[in-house]
Amino acid sequence: MKIAVLRERADGETRVAATPETVTKLIGLGAEVAIEAGAGELARFPDKDYAAAGASIGNAAATIKGADIVLTVRRPTASSLAGATAGALVIGAMDPYGNEAEIASLAKAGVTTVAMEFMPRITRAQVMDILSSQANLAGYQAVIDAAGAFDRAMPMMMTAAGTVRPAKVFVMGAGVAGLQAIATAKRLGAVVTATDVRAAAGEQVESLGAKFIMTEALKDASGTGGYARELTKDEQAAQAELVAGHIAKQDIVITTALIPGRPAPKLVTRAMVESMAPGSVLVDLAAERGGNIELTQPGKTVTTVNGATIIGFTNVAGRLATSASQLYSRNLVSFLETLIDKKEKVLAVNWDDELVKATVLTRDGAIVHPNIKVDAV
Ligand code: NAD
Repeated sequence: MKIAVLRERADGETRVAATPETVTKLIGLGAEVAIEAGAGELARFPDKDYAAAGASIGNAAATIKGADIVLTVRRPTASSLAGATAGALVIGAMDPYGNEAEIASLAKAGVTTVAMEFMPRITRAQVMDILSSQANLAGYQAVIDAAGAFDRAMPMMMTAAGTVRPAKVFVMGAGVAGLQAIATAKRLGAVVTATDVRAAAGEQVESLGAKFIMTEALKDASGTGGYARELTKDEQAAQAELVAGHIAKQDIVITTALIPGRPAPKLVTRAMVESMAPGSVLVDLAAERGGNIELTQPGKTVTTVNGATIIGFTNVAGRLATSASQLYSRNLVSFLETLIDKKEKVLAVNWDDELVKATVLTRDGAIVHPNIKVDAV
């Protein structure tokens, strides 16, 4: 059973799907591991460390040849998988929505594509949850990026030269990334408020010592699986009214709001940004999905409007490439442990397992996932 890890080809991708630590674990599962030379370089894992862990190092063709399992961070192209065994499992973040044609070409290539971001949010799968492991780091990094661009101190400082008031930080969207942003901003001494459209988020926000802000008009917009649903026009207007007054008084705004399979909701208008004092900083963690802030330019790190700075990095977790790769690759190992017969050292996928059913996109030459519409191709 051969596991291959290729160097990521996507622009700006710094992460890698296996680390020397997880190579040891994969070998422990009975696999032989091949790593493309330089795969871990941007995440600070040199080839020699992979080799010391027992992996073979080679070029892309040698790495993929005869692979039964391919671990990736981003969706690979079908051509990059040529040489893998027929029906090889290709496991990574597949970003299928809007990319149905690419998923179809993976189906045509005969590989079994597994989308880790579809992992159900159930207790058993927590250790495999790449959305959580990466969002947690992104939430932390958003505050660090904001603090770096902010011309003032975050905590209150009482000095002989007088008092510096603490920064006011507003976090929009209190899921995994938002809660980590709240915790990080609190640790830095900021005064933190947060909002979400799920009523359940209120308790979590308050348990971190931040104030929860939610409009009376919006009781609860929880959707399925713990995610939010899209707001109605009236609900959006009520939310915008609440937010407009609040944002004008903030120094830093961090937005993290997402709705599965939909573009990110637009929460912060140009007028709201213009209402903030010069020197304010906004970080849009939803930039990769279109952004929560009207003025965000995805991938462009800094946009200045009226003296306010808008930061729109995509792949924020990748800015912490070492930590992100460590957690991501451990998520993959945890999933693989359920797919491999350790004794026989072979793949033994239970196709009826709910984790497998939820994540497999293509199999035996066809798209098999109910959420991926073949006619969208
Ligand atoms: P997400 O990335 O899909 O969205 C981020 C946040 O944005 C969510 O809290 C969402 O409610 C919020 N949001 C959406 N539209 C909004 C709007 N218009 N205004 C303000 N906020 C808005 O969410 P996530 O971080 O993946 O978490 C989703 C849920 O999954 C949460 O309930 C979380 O607690 C839960 N979760 C469960 C597990 C588990 O049980 N294994 C693991 C991780 C997360």
